[in-house]
Amino acid sequence: LFGQVEAFAGDPILSLNDSFKADPRDRKVNLSIGVYTDEHGRIPVLGSVRAAYERIGFAERPYLPMEGHALYRDGVQKLVFGASHPALSDKRIATIQTIGGTGAVGIAADFLAKHTPGRTVLVSDPTWENHHGLFQRAGFKTATYPYWDRASRSVDFDGMVKALDAAEAGSIVVLQPVCHNPTGVDLDEAQQAAVTDLLVAKGHIVVFDMAYQGFGTSLEADAAFVRRYAARASCLVANSFSKNFSLYGERCGGLSVVCRDRDEAERVLGQLKLAVRRSYSSPPMTGGLLVGTVLGNDDLRAQWTREVETMRNRMDAMRKLLAEEIRKLSNEVDIGFLLNQRGMFSFTGLTEQQVTALRERDGVYLVGSGRMCVAGLNEANVPTVAKSFVDVSQG
Ligand code: PMP
Repeated sequence: LFGQVEAFAGDPILSLNDSFKADPRDRKVNLSIGVYTDEHGRIPVLGSVRAAYERIGFAERPYLPMEGHALYRDGVQKLVFGASHPALSDKRIATIQTIGGTGAVGIAADFLAKHTPGRTVLVSDPTWENHHGLFQRAGFKTATYPYWDRASRSVDFDGMVKALDAAEAGSIVVLQPVCHNPTGVDLDEAQQAAVTDLLVAKGHIVVFDMAYQGFGTSLEADAAFVRRYAARASCLVANSFSKNFSLYGERCGGLSVVCRDRDEAERVLGQLKLAVRRSYSSPPMTGGLLVGTVLGNDDLRAQWTREVETMRNRMDAMRKLLAEEIRKLSNEVDIGFLLNQRGMFSFTGLTEQQVTALRERDGVYLVGSGRMCVAGLNEANVPTVAKSFVDVSQG
């Protein structure tokens, strides 16, 4: 019956993680998968989340409604848009709890396929690979806009603007507002403003995918692009709590659609519920309660904000340390990119051959594109990584 089913090649990043686990070397370093680990290489359990877990205990587990837990949805809106955002006071944002950021982008794609079909979807080149997959699964064709300038290791802003301007009016544009995966480079405020003007003028439909809120500058500052855009025009915002709550396996995310008015938002919420019903019916409760409890309680939310800051500061410190260690070994290797980029990832500019050499010779695992997960660095492994970088860069 299924004789002609093709083998799945596997996800390259997840396969790399398996190879890392199987690698017998003691000094191996995993900088491939996008998971934040602490200075001991462990995925942290945040104190705020642990406190929430103790509070919620284990009671009965009925289905949540299709749109998710009310406390959670309220928390998403205030965190993403800010408590005093005009769209929030106008009650024109439709928000649902989703199965991680992936589920948020997936439901956004399903919703758009039904209500704004046949448009081209533009994603950054490069991007999180699943953007292509999720929109294609929903029936769209995907194309790219330039984003990364290899020579300057920063944003190819002119290329991006030209492509967005040349695209057919009313195209769907996926933007990562902060801590871009995989490059680590973001638009500055002036670029955000210019792109906003262009997107609004072209009538493009913007899907913001914010998977790393709080890992750039702060929870508030990282949302500024989305907040300013949402004050100007309708848009969709997918957000993930996997990283900033360190709750990868609980699958916590949100999808918000900013609408023209309250009536439109109510109808859109109904259609989001229908999309959920047809896909997985309702989201999981424990994750919903954990995040909802932290975001809904002033003390826990303040504690969580400090914990996000600790994770962010550690990643920034590791970038600096790696840059210093490389500098100690060589003046030839460029380290500017380490200091300009932010969030969980850095595009190193290393070629696929250099990445292979790092892995085979020294047990330092990066993604083939040259993406390094900065959160995998710690004081113990930075000297090894610095030496490998220098060796491989100098041939
Ligand atoms: N979008 C981007 C840009 C991401 O990097 C990720 C996580 N790798 C996701 C969405 C998916 O988030 P989640 O793990 O919460 O499904």
